[in-house]
Amino acid sequence: MFSYADVEKLRSVRAPEPAVLSLYLPVPLDPAGARGLAAEAGDLMAAASGPDGGGNARVNRADREAVLGALAAHGRDWLGHTVAFFACQEQGLFEAWPLPGLLPPRAVLAARPYVRPLLAAVQRCPDYRAAIIDREHAWVLSVSGDRVETVGRQVDQGPRSPGFGGWYGLQARRVQQRIIQLGRHHYRDAAAILARAAPGEPLVIGGHGDSIAGLLQALPSAAREAFAGSFHADPHTLTDARVRELAAPIVGDWVARRERKLSQEVLGEAPGRLAAVGLPACMAAVNERAVACLLVPDEGVIGGFACGNCGALSADGGGCPDCGRTGRAVPDLLEEMAQRTLDDHGQVTVIRDAPFSVAAKLRFPVTGEEAGR
Ligand SMILES: [Zn+2]
Repeated sequence: MFSYADVEKLRSVRAPEPAVLSLYLPVPLDPAGARGLAAEAGDLMAAASGPDGGGNARVNRADREAVLGALAAHGRDWLGHTVAFFACQEQGLFEAWPLPGLLPPRAVLAARPYVRPLLAAVQRCPDYRAAIIDREHAWVLSVSGDRVETVGRQVDQGPRSPGFGGWYGLQARRVQQRIIQLGRHHYRDAAAILARAAPGEPLVIGGHGDSIAGLLQALPSAAREAFAGSFHADPHTLTDARVRELAAPIVGDWVARRERKLSQEVLGEAPGRLAAVGLPACMAAVNERAVACLLVPDEGVIGGFACGNCGALSADGGGCPDCGRTGRAVPDLLEEMAQRTLDDHGQVTVIRDAPFSVAAKLRFPVTGEEAGR
């Protein structure tokens, strides 16, 4: 799977002309459905939307052939994925990345790679930690895409039998206390391993019910905030693949909850303060470089204009608010806003079923006059 670092590397590619091809091609799971892929890719590239939003942009022949060649060679490996191709021969760029799930097909020709669908895919498959636990054992795993790495392991011998065998004369109540104490140590030690392993990442716990509860209780509050959810399983029969399978929907729900929470936070903020909602307010905030986190919808594009002189974005090309020049058309203002937010070291979060056309958390308030233009 791909990380934000990969996206940044890709975003560093810039051509002087709109010559970078971005092609998102969903490959059906059914091999029979994959047969027409080359034709579909060809059609999409022939109809690629160009820098002015028009649909007849000319894809470089070498780039087109590189895409079709990669499809012929690897198409079978990509069943059930969406392949994101980025190609620009003159910049030495060719990438073909299989993304999870089937995304809408799209071909764009621009001066830099078109990254909105890619950002959504990276956001929805975050790296995470998984703790697998029972009363005696704990494993801490770090999961990144389909790579699972064991970053910590702990074995606690604990009491071997309820009566502690040879502890002659020890009363049942004291034995019970000893068992509880040993248990606490075990969960505390496991929690300490977890706290050291990538503390910012979401956390999934798998195992027996009482051990999950024991570990949760031992977690420091910061680690508990990252807790995404748990699954019940016998730790001794779990494989890496099964852990990923059981954790995937839990992590997916966690990502969706975060999207909703961010949306609510922005909508809860008084307008004109540290939030902007709607296209005019967000464009003004992007033009002022005030965006800390841009919230863009999953789907749809909004055509618009960018000033040929200073780059300011506007919905109509009637004249730049800053320098009065006529704007050049851009096919997707949401992509432009996302790119500029990332350029300014802000964050971009893609929101499913967004309750707004676009919204933003701001670094500083943008005045009403600016927001209205
Ligand atoms: Zn301007």
